Amino acid sequence: MRSVRIRVRGQVQGVGYRPFVWRLAHDLGISGIVRNDADGVLIEASGQRIDEFTVALKNQAPALAKVISVEAVDAPELAQQATFEIAETETGVARTNVTPDAIVCTDCIAEINDPNARRFRYAFTNCTNCGPRFSIVESIPYDRASTTMHLFEMCADCRSEYEDPADRRFHAQPIACPACGPKVWLEDASGELDIGDPIAEAARRLHDGQILALKGIGGFHLACDALNDDAVSRLRSRKHRPAKPFALMALDIETIRQYALVSDDEANLLQDPAAPVLLLEAAGETLTPSIAPNQWALGWMLPTSPFHMLILQDFGRPLVMTSGNLSGEPQVIGNDEARKKLSPFVDTFVLHDRPIARRLDDSVARIVDGVSRVQRRARGYAPDTLSLPDGLANAPPVAAYGAFLKSAICLTQHSQALLSHHLGDLSDALTVEEFEKADRDYAVLMNHSPEVIACDLHPDYPSTAQAEYCSDRLGVPLVRIQHHHAHIAAVMAENHWPTDAGPVLGVALDGLGWGTDDTVWGGEFLLCDYTSFVRVGHLYPVPLPGGGAAQREPWRNLLAQLDSCGLEDRAELLLKDRPVGPLRAAVDKGVNSPLTSSVGRMFDAVSALLGLAPDSQSYEGEAAMALEAAARPFLNEVEPYPFDVANGMLNPAPLWHAMMDDVDSSVAAGAIAARFHVGLANAVCDLARALAEANGAKAIGFSGGCFQNASLLSLCLNRLENRKVLTHSLTPPNDGSVALGQAVIAAAKQLN
Ligand code: ZN
Ligand code: ZN
Ligand code: FE
Repeated sequence: MRSVRIRVRGQVQGVGYRPFVWRLAHDLGISGIVRNDADGVLIEASGQRIDEFTVALKNQAPALAKVISVEAVDAPELAQQATFEIAETETGVARTNVTPDAIVCTDCIAEINDPNARRFRYAFTNCTNCGPRFSIVESIPYDRASTTMHLFEMCADCRSEYEDPADRRFHAQPIACPACGPKVWLEDASGELDIGDPIAEAARRLHDGQILALKGIGGFHLACDALNDDAVSRLRSRKHRPAKPFALMALDIETIRQYALVSDDEANLLQDPAAPVLLLEAAGETLTPSIAPNQWALGWMLPTSPFHMLILQDFGRPLVMTSGNLSGEPQVIGNDEARKKLSPFVDTFVLHDRPIARRLDDSVARIVDGVSRVQRRARGYAPDTLSLPDGLANAPPVAAYGAFLKSAICLTQHSQALLSHHLGDLSDALTVEEFEKADRDYAVLMNHSPEVIACDLHPDYPSTAQAEYCSDRLGVPLVRIQHHHAHIAAVMAENHWPTDAGPVLGVALDGLGWGTDDTVWGGEFLLCDYTSFVRVGHLYPVPLPGGGAAQREPWRNLLAQLDSCGLEDRAELLLKDRPVGPLRAAVDKGVNSPLTSSVGRMFDAVSALLGLAPDSQSYEGEAAMALEAAARPFLNEVEPYPFDVANGMLNPAPLWHAMMDDVDSSVAAGAIAARFHVGLANAVCDLARALAEANGAKAIGFSGGCFQNASLLSLCLNRLENRKVLTHSLTPPNDGSVALGQAVIAAAKQLN
């Protein structure tokens, strides 16, 4: 007989961990007590099989738990108990126990498909191992009264499950059943429809080619039959979304395999409780091309809730699932809002009466070089925290406000960093409102009050304005941080690079970010630690003719590139239908034409040269993604284009001349695109290696939006095979992680 006190750390609250401990103790004949506290879970245990118990606490933990450590200390003084008990949580003690939303679990699926079960075909079935969490939480601590489920009173059957420690639904806050829980109904232009089985009817309407609005976990989707050309085209034209790829949802992996290559790792990630949209290489049967024009990969997800699973079971084919919003605006979450805004797009609404507390877009991920990499971090990932790197644990709490197009907020405290869910594009006024609301929301949920505030150097970002406002209101200092320093600090922090581990040679290949020299940066080699950086290299800067217009119109960047390397005559020929003269005059006078070293804009220029780019991009990255798709089939068989390198400056002049020769010899656009990708990857990596060696950097860090390009990332990782390279996995390489970088820099500066 042994007595121990066991401390379990990690994500162990609100995930059914205490009942799991209770069951385990019963199985192993152990007595004692388990309780939640501010540091996780604390167990007092006595029995013969303590070692077995301790091992199982980690190895057999419930699906949604993330156990970081289990430490047992002998405690002979503990009084021997007759039984094992679960202590009530003392209110106000627990730090937070809000966890991300999770996909439906296999036990619940079995129940939903069992005609004899109480929850047969019930769309809101869940248990402690699955179901909605963050999307229904209104306040903390996390219990039923503080979720949108407080509107539904548990029936006697649900209550007895809820109160039974041996039950899978013990303290499952969203517990519900057909007798007491939320309900689904259909509406169309004529109002609510009186139909026996609304889900079966929704599936019938999808077969008829209708466009449906479906109320999901974190917001509304517009859905239609992915095999129906006409329906998909109608959805595109109604939504005024000419080209941006649509995501797809399928019932199971076997269905996805008919249309895409799915490795074992990818299959696992599809089935992860987060259920992200996973970008998978198209292969096999083809879907309607208008689902994702000029893309080599399609975004697939599995049903994110029983509601979606039932619709897909009845429908039997993959669905297009795109967010339900007006162009540029945030996704709609309320029923009334949906009726008002989405009516022009949809034939039928599939609604339910469980309110969504918080807007959460679908997360997007992909696997590159065997590592899963989040591209958009929202439903299923937020509000997970990351531990801060060694050396920052004692920093004061920081709030950081991120960048612009892919905004997010980051809060740090108690040696953890909480990167908010994706908050969207701040060029939209409603999104800015949402951003401010999310700021208040997170501060309350996390009980956070910052002692330092961080933002971008860019003076006109709405995120900067919010940071200035908060700094004023709270009377705490504001730290302005260079965009690409923040990018690299984010990838360092995500990889737990300790503060005393020396500098990292950061490679930021990006769209646009404000520099410290009144030019716009985006192809940077920065020797970084958490408090400072030196710009040791960059791409040769060229004008950005027309400023913001050059961000939308790729041909402007082609003009700038050709003009800057002595190919003015070619520019005139290629761009003879464009206002080249007036633009050059503006550039000469320095009107609205800042210099930029952006690699993203160089992708635009090459894409424009090859006729792959649209006149005006309908979404960020459109031209670059078309270029990558064209390059894909040629990547292994081509000679890379050359760059000149002098004094840390990467000069693409030789590349442009070689590219012109290839165009003149009618080399295939895809081959040219591939020679560009490989040439860029080689030049960037060779320069990074040289700069790292010259400056004593022990690692190279990759960040910036261009690393969403899986081909580029993969080529770069290959080129630096025997080097220590820090890359993004849990946070996006794009501006979605800039707030994390800002937060750790501000924290480090406070400790300095
Ligand atoms: Zn479940
Ligand atoms: Zn019930
Ligand atoms: Fe950026």
